[in-house]
Amino acid sequence: MVETVTLYRAPTTPADADALAAWLRGRVDAEVRVRDRLLGTRSDDDLPEELAAARVTDPSERATGNTMLGIVRYEERVLDDPERAGGVVYDGRAVQRALNARLPGEQGLDHLHLPLLDRVIGTWGGHDGRWHKRVAVLGQPALVSVPGLYEAPAKPEAYYEAKSKHALMTGDAPPREVLEAELDGDFLVADDPRTTEALRGYVIAAVDLLESGTAFCDDERCRLHDAHRQPGVIRAQLRDPPFCETHAERYG
Ligand SMILES: [Zn+2]
Repeated sequence: MVETVTLYRAPTTPADADALAAWLRGRVDAEVRVRDRLLGTRSDDDLPEELAAARVTDPSERATGNTMLGIVRYEERVLDDPERAGGVVYDGRAVQRALNARLPGEQGLDHLHLPLLDRVIGTWGGHDGRWHKRVAVLGQPALVSVPGLYEAPAKPEAYYEAKSKHALMTGDAPPREVLEAELDGDFLVADDPRTTEALRGYVIAAVDLLESGTAFCDDERCRLHDAHRQPGVIRAQLRDPPFCETHAERYG
């Protein structure tokens, strides 16, 4: 049984940890707390090097990491100043192990730690030999990546078509606003105002894994569904019904 859930803020993102905690409190039987950014508060001399070693350097190469001094220094700087982070994908399991070793106090499974992250994380796909960006890497701690919400699930085909059409005519990428206006808004973009609401399902799926042993839900309408495409994220997180029947009984 999960008795306590601690959410950690990601202050450089629009994700509102306090609002997610308030939502979660009405649905799970655990005490839900909120703390400051985990990457900022639990850092030590070794963490920058562990993050450098977790960097995905080639999307089709299982081995990760670049621990050259300049990269480690960069990781040091962005731990202190997350505004500067970006453009890097990290091995989510390696980040999870690094943070597990640094969790404050209780590390047992009755206390779930749930950091919202300002980094993009991925997992290795053994079936296709590629890294895949992920919104969430569940476990202890359960990592929920805010930029992953925008980048991991594929955007609709029409988005890529509009983008290449615009590039053909003007020679560069269209501004986000143009694409959003041309397409129906059924995908999430960076700093999307729906970010917090769209993260609800990933947060409750993290609790559910520890409670039930099942990761995510197969029902595409359910918030606990791990959609691989943006329209699927919109359907699961922002459209009715909020849960499938099984999960509505548990969390509705
Ligand atoms: Zn479900």
